[in-house]
Amino acid sequence: MTKPVIYCDFDGTVTESDNIIAIMKKFAPPEWELIKDQILSRQISINEGVGKLFSLLPSHLKEEITSFAIKNAKIRAGFKEFVEFTCNEGIPFYIVSGGIDFFVFPILAKYGSFDGVFCNESDFSGETIKILWPHKCDLLCTNDCGCCKPSVIRKLSHSKESFKIVIGDSVTDLEAAKHADFVLARDLLQEKCLEWGINHKGFHTFFDCIEEIKKRIEVGELTC
Ligand code: MG
Ligand code: ZN
Repeated sequence: MTKPVIYCDFDGTVTESDNIIAIMKKFAPPEWELIKDQILSRQISINEGVGKLFSLLPSHLKEEITSFAIKNAKIRAGFKEFVEFTCNEGIPFYIVSGGIDFFVFPILAKYGSFDGVFCNESDFSGETIKILWPHKCDLLCTNDCGCCKPSVIRKLSHSKESFKIVIGDSVTDLEAAKHADFVLARDLLQEKCLEWGINHKGFHTFFDCIEEIKKRIEVGELTC
């Protein structure tokens, strides 16, 4: 269990805030707030809720919404350096996101190559935006996640010896965090890790993440 593999969230982790919320605030009619509250209180699943949210937006706004999302996204400090670090150390680095392809891919584009980017997809061919779910829950998950992080981790399942590092910020990362050997957590995920007794460290920037992983490499806990 010494070869690290990284599974990193996108919204609120790579970017400083949630891109879907920003898009809804800007473009959706007021009823989006009710759907958001239903998702947060777990009355409806993420899958159902996010689908409902985007169905509030007309497809003809595609260009406007896309360029807003890209312009609005603030990248967390140290991300560029973190990508370079994993690349230099040869650590497999996956982005696993509940975000949507039309903003996830363009925002990540300038940071170079990842071993994989998993997120939801969008279809603008109808009247309103339709979300497609290419990474749904496998048989072992019953949460109706949308983009199912534990399922993606299982599917990629590098050798059993790999040391899984999950990086994230919210409840949607909790199921993935339960499968991790070590979690770098902020915000709600950090609280949940404490509550569940999950091996974790808090972080603010990706420079903190580099330090945490470097430390473990230096003491020989991890080998790359
Ligand atoms: Mg997040
Ligand atoms: Zn799931």
